[in-house]
Amino acid sequence: MRKPKLRELKEAVTALVKGPYTSKFPKAPAIISERYRGKPEYHEDDCVLCGACGEVCPPGAIDMVQERREDGTAVRRMVLHYDICIFCGQCQRACITEKGIILSNKFDLAVFDRSEAVETVEDELLTCDVCGEFITSRKHAQWIARKLGPIAYSNPALVLAAWGDMGLVDEMATRSERPLKRTDNMRLLCPSCRRSLIQTEEWG
Ligand code: SF4
Ligand code: SF4
Repeated sequence: MRKPKLRELKEAVTALVKGPYTSKFPKAPAIISERYRGKPEYHEDDCVLCGACGEVCPPGAIDMVQERREDGTAVRRMVLHYDICIFCGQCQRACITEKGIILSNKFDLAVFDRSEAVETVEDELLTCDVCGEFITSRKHAQWIARKLGPIAYSNPALVLAAWGDMGLVDEMATRSERPLKRTDNMRLLCPSCRRSLIQTEEWG
C-alpha cells in the first residue's frame, strides 16, 4: 500500500479534530448561505405581470399564459416551472419593480408529479374596447402610469388605467362599429385600433 501524501494526512487529522465537512441534513436543518440562489418566488403585491422575467429566462422556465374567461374578462398568468429553472437569478435581475420575483433560499424542491413544480401569479388583462385584443395586465398599465406621472396623460390607455386605479372610471361598454370616431379617443384601444382611429382622424 502506498503511503498517504502529507497533505491528505493533514486533512484527515484536521477532520478528526474539527468534525466532518458535510452537514447532517435531512437529520438536522441545513445551514444555508445568505447568498444562496434557491427557488424563485413571485411576490403578488410587487409583481405587475409585465412578462420581462419570462423574456430573459435562459431555459424558458417561465410561461406567460393569457386567456379569456367565460364571463368575458381576460387574465394573464405567469407560470414558473421550477423543475426547469437553473437558478441563475436573471428573472430577479430583470424585474421592472425589482421586487416582483425573488430567489428564496428554498432548495428542497422534490415532487412526485412535475406538474406540481410551478409557481404562479395572475392579474386581470386589459382588452381593447373595440376588437377585444389583449393589451397588458391592469397592474402593469397602472404601474407605468404611476412611473410616468404627468407624462402618462399623453396616452389615453394609461390615463384610463390610472383613473381606474383611483376608482374614477367605470368599465366602458365595448363597441364594434367602424370607422372609429373622435369620441373613441378616450377608450381603451389596442395599438392597431389606436392607429386606425388616428388615420381616420387625420385622413378620413
Ligand atoms: S432563476 Fe433563471 S432559470 Fe430560474 S426562472 Fe429565473 S431566469 Fe429562469
Ligand atoms: S413585475 Fe417582475 S416578476 Fe412580475 S412579471 Fe414583471 S419582471 Fe416578472
